[in-house]
Amino acid sequence: MDRKYFGTNGIRGIIAELITPAFISKMSSAIAASLKDKGTVVVGADSRLTGPFIKNNVISSFLASGNEVIDLGVVPTPVVQYAVTHLQAKMGIVVTASHNPPEFNGIKVIDDDGIEIDIEKQLEIEEIFEKERFSNVSWNENGSITEMNLNQEYIDQIKQFVNVDRIKKKAMTVVVDTGNGAGSVVTPELLRQIGMRVITINGNLDGRLSGRGSEPTPEKLREMSKTTQQIKANFSVAHDGDADRAIFGDENGNILFGDKSITLFEKWFMKHHDNKQFVTPISSSSAVVDIADEMGGKVLWTPVGCIFVSRKMISSNALLGGEENGGLFYGLHQSVRDGAMAAALMAHILAETEKTFSDLISELPKYHQKKNKVACPNKLKKNVMEHIASTIPESVELVDIDGVKLIYQEGWVLIRPSGTEQIFRIFVEAKTEIMANEIMKDGMNLIQTALQELN
Ligand code: MG
Repeated sequence: MDRKYFGTNGIRGIIAELITPAFISKMSSAIAASLKDKGTVVVGADSRLTGPFIKNNVISSFLASGNEVIDLGVVPTPVVQYAVTHLQAKMGIVVTASHNPPEFNGIKVIDDDGIEIDIEKQLEIEEIFEKERFSNVSWNENGSITEMNLNQEYIDQIKQFVNVDRIKKKAMTVVVDTGNGAGSVVTPELLRQIGMRVITINGNLDGRLSGRGSEPTPEKLREMSKTTQQIKANFSVAHDGDADRAIFGDENGNILFGDKSITLFEKWFMKHHDNKQFVTPISSSSAVVDIADEMGGKVLWTPVGCIFVSRKMISSNALLGGEENGGLFYGLHQSVRDGAMAAALMAHILAETEKTFSDLISELPKYHQKKNKVACPNKLKKNVMEHIASTIPESVELVDIDGVKLIYQEGWVLIRPSGTEQIFRIFVEAKTEIMANEIMKDGMNLIQTALQELN
């Protein structure tokens, strides 16, 4: 069965189109009805202008179905996740559209272990939604609302995992661009408390996201880069709208792809911990394998999506995960993406070395990456992948945990069906640019040939 409303990470849509008070009311009633036992539910929102109407609607549904609600106000997604486990809540709801533009909003549903609910639970909620099997209770069983601010407790927990004395001693400067999003209420304060000089950009909560927008792409982070160079900061960090991701820049203002920073975290982690497992989606750079080989560690692959990484970390007792989009999962803190944790950990890593950020990055394995897409009707996607799998020579290693990944001597290609568009996304990585182009050409050909033969 396919999901109708839940996407890769929660439900998202455009305000006044999918996201209306009526829809949110019905959907949050379905979410509340999916809870087997009544209890405490934690609710937070990112900084979007439309957060209040959605959050109040969500709160109403939970109160009417007999749950106690704790309202955390405007907070990053990882603060809600921390609150769920910290307060032993039954569930958490984050009103956010993450990196999407301001006309979007939506909800992420957090399970009682602090991790986003899995696909089975999403399907269950959608079924309740369709059949309108809500669980409203009588007047004298309605819940009540408590407002709570857990930001400092969350900050205190992160501080336990970094060496505050050493960071203070190093007297570093960091430029933080929270993109007017929820990270504004936590990350600058955390970095100040661990002894850094913090310069903020777009650091005010602004529901219109009128600074650089909520997606931290290199083009949007030019001001952060420029400021880093001008004030000679040690590094910079930017978040998406709900601050579960962190994109870093070095002391020269170069914005790093997430692959680089997670590989740096992996290297540091494997050097300092006995548990040398690293969990990452199949689309990540082979650099993570090179580092694991070098450090005597192991990479555990997952399908693309943060929920898969979190669940794999739990099931395999791994303590570190990373995504190429800048998601860092630090299991000692919590097994979910956490932008503020990533920022503090980077400060810790830089404080324990004499090297600069760009030095550390230049020591990592180098690869060339390419991305492309090919149109393909949804109904043919599965057949195309099967066709490709059946035609490749035996000498090529095939991994099919998400799409088709073909691993050659010189590099790899990953062919993934988009969940939202009628296209295949193609990711290629190789040691040289020429080789990356070659592999891309081959990958595109494989899809075209399959399409021709299937038509
Ligand atoms: Mg996000």
